[in-house]
Parts: sequence; C-alpha cells; structure tokens
Amino acid sequence: MNKKKDNISTKQTMKQVWQNNAFLIKLCFTASPLYIISMTFDAIRNQISIFFEDTIGISYVLKAAEFHYPFHKVAAFIMILAACITLGMIYSVIVTSLWAAKGMPIIRQQVKMALYEKAKDLDLECYDNSDYYNELVLAISEADKQIDRCITFLQNTASGITVFISIGIYFFMKDKASILLITVSFLLTFFFNQLYNKLTYKARIGRNPYERKRDYIKRVFYLNDYAKELRLNPEVSEVLFNDLEKANEEVYKVEKSYANRRFLLSFLRRYVSNDFFNDVLYITYLAFKASVLGILSFSSVVILYSSFGRLKRGMRIFTDVYPYASETSLYVQKIRDFLDYEPKIQSEKKLSVINQPKAIELRNVSFSYSNCDENVINDISLSISPGEKIALVGYNGAGKTTLIKLIMRLYDTTKGEILSDEKLLQDYNVWEYRNSIGVVFQDYKIFAGTITENVLLDLADRSDQDKVDWALHHSGLSDRITTLTNGLDTALTSEFVKDGVNLSGGESQKLAIGRVFYKDAGLIILDEPSSALDPIAEYQLNHSMLKAAENKTVIFISHRLSTTRLADRIILLEKGRIAEQGTHEDLLKQGGKYAQMWRAQAGQYITI
Ligand code: ADP
Repeated sequence: MNKKKDNISTKQTMKQVWQNNAFLIKLCFTASPLYIISMTFDAIRNQISIFFEDTIGISYVLKAAEFHYPFHKVAAFIMILAACITLGMIYSVIVTSLWAAKGMPIIRQQVKMALYEKAKDLDLECYDNSDYYNELVLAISEADKQIDRCITFLQNTASGITVFISIGIYFFMKDKASILLITVSFLLTFFFNQLYNKLTYKARIGRNPYERKRDYIKRVFYLNDYAKELRLNPEVSEVLFNDLEKANEEVYKVEKSYANRRFLLSFLRRYVSNDFFNDVLYITYLAFKASVLGILSFSSVVILYSSFGRLKRGMRIFTDVYPYASETSLYVQKIRDFLDYEPKIQSEKKLSVINQPKAIELRNVSFSYSNCDENVINDISLSISPGEKIALVGYNGAGKTTLIKLIMRLYDTTKGEILSDEKLLQDYNVWEYRNSIGVVFQDYKIFAGTITENVLLDLADRSDQDKVDWALHHSGLSDRITTLTNGLDTALTSEFVKDGVNLSGGESQKLAIGRVFYKDAGLIILDEPSSALDPIAEYQLNHSMLKAAENKTVIFISHRLSTTRLADRIILLEKGRIAEQGTHEDLLKQGGKYAQMWRAQAGQYITI
C-alpha cells in the first residue's frame, strides 16, 4: 500500500476513474457473469420500455385524439405496447428478485475472499502503522458498498446511454434547438456534482479515525471480552463515554467544516442547473414557438415538454455517472492498493524446511518497529543448539516477545541476520518456515469451532482424533473433555452454537498448548504459556512439555522463575540486549539481576 501523507487526496485522472470502476466490475463479472449481463440488459430494457410507453405511446395517443385516428387502430396499438411492457416487467422481476438473490452473495463473497487472502499475507508491520491500518479497515469495510455502487454505476451508464440515444434521436428529429439547452444544463450539473462528491468523500475520510473510535467503543460495550472489566471498573465506562462524546464532537466538526460548501453546491446542482432550466427557460421557449411563432401543435408542446423533463432526468443519470464513478474510484483505489500490496517478508530461495530439532543463530541482530525509530533489539548475537531448552526472562518491555517474533520471521531484522539450521531465514519458504514452528502466544485465540478443529487449526478428519486425544492428554485438558457430552466434537464459544462451551482461561491455555503437542514441530516457542495456570497445573504441564519436547528445540518466555529453572540456559534480556545468560545455578552464583528476581519470587515457588 502506498504510504500517503495526505490520505484524503482526491486527485485522480479520468483514466484512473474508469480503470478503477472497470477493475471492480471485472471482479464482479468474473464472479457471476450471468447476473451482471442480465441486470445490465434489464437497465437497457427499462429505458427502452419507458421511451416506448411515455414518448412514442403518449405521442401517438395525443396525435390520435388531435387528428381523429380510428379507435380500433389506437386500441390495437395500446394492446401491443401493453403486452411488450408486461413481458419486460416479468423479466425484470426475475432478474431483480431471483437472480440478484443468487448472484450478489457470490459476488460479495469472491471479492471479500480476495481481500481476506491478502489480509492474511499482510506484513504484521502494517498493523503497527495507523495509516496502513486505517486504509486496511476502509478497504475491507467499504467493499460491499463499493460493489453495490459499481453495479449501480453499470446500470446507470447503460440506462444513461439508452436514454441519450433514444430520446436524443427523437429531439434531433423534432427540435434541434432544445438540445443546446439540455447540453448547457448537463455540463453545469456535471461540474457541480463533481465538486459535491469530492467534498462528500473528503468528509468521509476526515470522519474515519473518529468513526473507528466509535466502533471501538461500540465493540467494548457488546463484546464478551470486555464484559468483566466493564463491570469491575465502572470508571472505564466514564472514560469511554467521554471518548465517545469527543469522537462525536470531532465528527460534527468535520461535517461542519464542509457544511457551507455542501449547502451551496447542493443549491447550485439541484436548482440552478436543473429546475431553473427545465421549468423556466424551456417552458418559455416552447410557449414562444407555439403561441408567437405558431409553429408547434398542442400535442407537440406537451410531448416535447414532458420529453425534455425525461431527457433531463435521463441526462441527470448521465451527469451523475462520472462524479459517482469518481467517488467509487477513490475507494476502489484503496481496495486495489490493498490487493496490490506486496508483502516485504518474502522467500528468496524457497528452501524447504526439514522437520528436525532446529538450530537457531542470531548474528548482531538489531530491530526497531517501523512506527518508532528506537531499537527494541540491540545487537544481539546468540546461538541455540538443536534440542536446547532456552528460557527468555526479563522485565516487561525488555524485548522478549519481539525477539521471538523475529525468530518466527513475523518481522525482518533491521540489522544483522538470523539463521535456522545454518541457512538464512530469508532462504526458506516463509509459510513453510512459520508452519514448522509450534507456538503458543500470550494472546492466543480460541476459534469458534470444535475442540478438534481448534487443536488442528485445520478441517477436522476422523483419522486425527487419536493424536488430538494424545496432545490434549499431555497438555492436561483430557479430564475436562471427558465431562463434555460431545467430547472432542464439542463446539467452543457460545457465539454461534447455543450449547457451545466457553473454556476457562487456564483450560483455553491448555487447549492452545495442545496445538503445540499436536504439531510435532522442530522448534517450540512458548510466550508465557502457563500464566493462567495454577502452580500445580503449571508444574505438571512443564514437565509434560519438556518430556514431550525432549528432542526439540524450545524457547520459552516465562515470568515464573520456577519454570525457567528447568531450562538448559536462561537468557536475561534488558533493554533489548542480553544482560546475563547461563544455567539457573550459574546465574544465581553471578548474583546479578536474575538472582535478584529469583530471590523476589523464591518465597512463592521454592516449595515446588
Ligand atoms: P516484552 O515481551 O519483553 O515485554 P516486547 O518485545 O513486547 O517486550 O516489547 C519491547 C518494546 O517494543 C516495548 O517498548 C514495546 O512497547 C515495543 N513494542 C512492542 N510491540 C510493538 C509494536 N507493534 N509497535 C511498536 N512498538 C512495539
């Protein structure tokens, strides 16, 4: 995604506008060609039907009355016209209610899937940058609306062209001077509409950060995740109400800053360039031709006036098409930027990963997040042998999680390099490499699916059940599962399934750890995996984990030093540097920070 300083820039060429609309229409067409063709045809049919009904039909009937045509001829004409219009209506109902109900969801799903596919590949760095994040949210949240707009654009264009051709030819044959008036009105409306739509877009972009804030507050009040905190800390609600009020004020300020200009443009586009031309200028012109020059019959005055209004309305569709397409294009551009985004984290040589205990080496690694210049990791060199058990300790903010994110290649180093089994991480296929690591994050997530699916993180297959059973036995969740009627097939979270089970914090953590047992990876990374467990469960889990991971490389972060004691080597990080390292006993002997931390915690854990 292009990093733009002025993310409310509305500059775009006409070519871009057409290309962007064509891009989204093409996506829609690929998803459901039949629906796109049939609804475009329906828009054309509708205008032809109106033309025959209102211009040709009424004109014929008025002339028949003025010049006394035989009644049977008029009746036959009306019957044929009515039959054609009815057939057209039946077709329209089929397209708009039946085919639309099938076609639109397919179109929306395919566009969304393209966006979700991309979101999945996005570098984590994009989430750290609020500009990127704003654009990402905008692209995804606007997709449905822009699909609807693009389809409306297609229909309006087809309608506009049909009206232009049919009534345009009619006027050309009946009264060429009218075309001049219509053209002037057309150009004025076009110009004012474009200005108006640009302002609407700017206001929308200006409101976006505050609307996101409002959305966030809305989520806090309805999501389960926040329910407990809200009840226990009533003051938080006050803070949020305060934020909501501020966000509302900001939205109002943005709207207000555009209000005068929008009011003026509304007046100009609706009255000056539209009603004034129609109801004042043109009617005067027709009256002059009929009563002063005497060169127009009464039926012609009626038809020309009503057709002028219709052509004006038809032209209005036409005048609106470009500004409308321009506004859609601004959003589609964001969707395209998002889809065109090339992840920075790429595989260079695409080496395959061998499933064996990994050796990890860091050579003078430094790293800073893109949103902050300061180094979070400072010149770290470290060698981890296959099968070694490493504990990372240190105060909050020391850089422990960042270091494991670098080892997992969720970020690339700013300086220095990381090797796995003596090959640079960049040489491996990035997805294969990440997949070869069994990991439990601090903020692991439980998905709305069955227990088995949550362990596999894949579609469940009966043949996997024994291994899932085994994995959950080692992570300590088996006892809980035996209490559930549906066992491993129990649905988790009650969001979609009425009798879905909500696991406790500790149980969820055991489930997340079960994933690692199941995965059988050469490198296991645990970021405070047992923080929600009671000391006995933690002790049992750690033993179980280390036994199961005997031949694997393990890196774990823990604040509980009773756990880190089990590691072959303890690395203490401080301000992104290695401050101390060695075995538990070595570090205690050194009498440094680790020894201090141990003494502070010893009272709690010395008995285990
Ligand atoms: P630890 O795991 O030791 O508590 P972290 O690696 O999470 O420490 O964080 C190290 C430093 O990096 C902290 O100062 C934290 O604020 C900062 N940090 C962590 N994640 C990000 C991020 N996504 N963007 C910017 N700074 C971050």
